[in-house]
Amino acid sequence: DNYKEGLSKTRKSFSEKINDLVARYRKVDEDFFEDLEEVLISADVGVSTVLDLIDELKMEVKRQNISDTSEVKTVISEKLVEIYNGDDDETNKELNIKENELTIMLFVGVNGVGKTTTIGKLAHQLKSEGKKVLLTAGDTFRAGAIEQLSEWGKRIDVDVIKHSEGSDPAAVIFDGIQAAKSRKADVLLCDTAGRLQNKVNLMNELQKVKRVIEREVPNAPHEVLLVLDATTGQNALSQAKTFAQATDVTGIVLTKLDGTAKGGIVLAIRNELGIPVKLVGLGEKVTDLQKFDPQAFVYGLFA
Ligand code: GDP
Repeated sequence: DNYKEGLSKTRKSFSEKINDLVARYRKVDEDFFEDLEEVLISADVGVSTVLDLIDELKMEVKRQNISDTSEVKTVISEKLVEIYNGDDDETNKELNIKENELTIMLFVGVNGVGKTTTIGKLAHQLKSEGKKVLLTAGDTFRAGAIEQLSEWGKRIDVDVIKHSEGSDPAAVIFDGIQAAKSRKADVLLCDTAGRLQNKVNLMNELQKVKRVIEREVPNAPHEVLLVLDATTGQNALSQAKTFAQATDVTGIVLTKLDGTAKGGIVLAIRNELGIPVKLVGLGEKVTDLQKFDPQAFVYGLFA
């Protein structure tokens, strides 16, 4: 299936390296852990996440009295899933979609990460589940952004509420909400501008947009989804930190996982920011957007 295929680069490079380690060492010792640390860091798992993991592994190996490296693989995957899951309950890992009331989702992220594509893919998915979906072109800043979202709208036959380039994003989103209410839409997906060059502007704009949404619809926005490009590795992590300071991010969409061997970034984001990865992009087709399943992801790495 396309989940497996989309992760094949990460899986191949990771499992090759792990199997190589296991074969080379046979016995679990300090050198083995040091090399394992390197393998994990090279997969972009993130230094502090790796250090946590290695500590936990050492304890677990002692506790279970494991001496053979071939047995360590299972423990690594168990610990990775544990680290990913943290202390959260299951509910906040799923997209928060309300039944019988308007759900509003805000998409944030820098240009080029795949924000528009993700909105298009998700709109298509929700529509095929029978929901009435509307899009709002809140990125009024980047030339071409409104047009690009409109093209997606045409392609999947979903209406797009838009103003002209340079107009006030909060005003467009206000109009989107009114349209969603009067047309009795189930879900409103809102694009936003993603300039990081000026943090103060970014923060002000996102807060203004959020205030409008909060004022118009109680308990909205139901999701603020930060879109990150997995191929940018540790850069994605630093973008995430900036956006998390600018607004309350409720979930991550990690795109282009199909294009990288460093899918370990999922674990770093989760562990270092505490924000769940809710969706992953595994290709350019409209169907290449999937719910993120940490268990399948991690076990896939060791297959
Ligand atoms: P935006 O500027 O954030 O709105 O980014 P776009 O949605 O325009 O996407 C930028 C490029 O990334 C486009 O060529 C998309 O087709 C591509 N893209 C988006 N998501 C994925 C993905 O999951 N996998 C791959 N391979 N390409 C993607």
